[in-house]
Amino acid sequence: MSTTPFRAMKTLLLAAVLMLSFTKPARAIPIQEPAPNEESHKDLDIAREYLQNFYNLTSTTIRNKHLIHSKIKEMQAFLGLKVTGKLDSDTMEVMKKPRCGMADVENFRAAGQMSRWNKYSLTYRIVNYTPDLDRGSVDQAIRNAFRVWSNVTPLRFTKVFSGTADIMIMFQARYHGDSNLFDGPGRILAHAFFPGPGIGGDAHFDEDETWSANSQGINLFLVAAHEIGHSLGLTHSSDPNALMYPTYSYKDPNRFQLSQNDVRRIQAVYGRRK
Ligand SMILES: [Zn+2]
Ligand SMILES: [Zn+2]
Repeated sequence: MSTTPFRAMKTLLLAAVLMLSFTKPARAIPIQEPAPNEESHKDLDIAREYLQNFYNLTSTTIRNKHLIHSKIKEMQAFLGLKVTGKLDSDTMEVMKKPRCGMADVENFRAAGQMSRWNKYSLTYRIVNYTPDLDRGSVDQAIRNAFRVWSNVTPLRFTKVFSGTADIMIMFQARYHGDSNLFDGPGRILAHAFFPGPGIGGDAHFDEDETWSANSQGINLFLVAAHEIGHSLGLTHSSDPNALMYPTYSYKDPNRFQLSQNDVRRIQAVYGRRK
């Protein structure tokens, strides 16, 4: 009775603030989850783009809700999520993670691209350098990334400084002359081309990322080692411990070890180191 309207308002505000602070982890309160078929438009837009980019959802089928849900299931199964066919919080979280620009389902290889090189001695060239790191650090990250693969196969990599190398490495932003444009900071970090002449084997890094030699920004060595996997012919792996898993997660480069899954897959193509 004695509460003034002002005080009542303050109490209400406090209650609202408290409620807000308790609703932070969305998963803790099931009521906050969107009901089936009521996915927010924003989430649906993100999902459509993701499934188009990485799960071969085509523009003609994009309005087919049934197909989108079966593609969501395919994505959840590949990335080791609970297969619900719904845009639940775990799924949305993974869709927003930084990752490689290559598709997760093998739909096709561009004309002239092969699944392996027909030689064991390959050349690479760093065509341009990111201003995020000093040149020495870029050289070292790329050299170590190649070493990841030459350590377990008979492959040998030689750096060249001019002309056309088998694997041309470059840092580019947005549209950069191929059909896979980059998307600004975050999300897509890099892409590469499967073995072959011309653009085959090349690896492109999104210059809009902040590249680093440590845990800040995006670690160049980790992404380069992954992309070189594609340059050698590997597709994505659904093993979350594999280097060829599509999403980026930081691991200490000094303690980096290629997973058994990656070793098995690359040795199936090129054999063991002699
Ligand atoms: Zn990839
Ligand atoms: Zn490119």
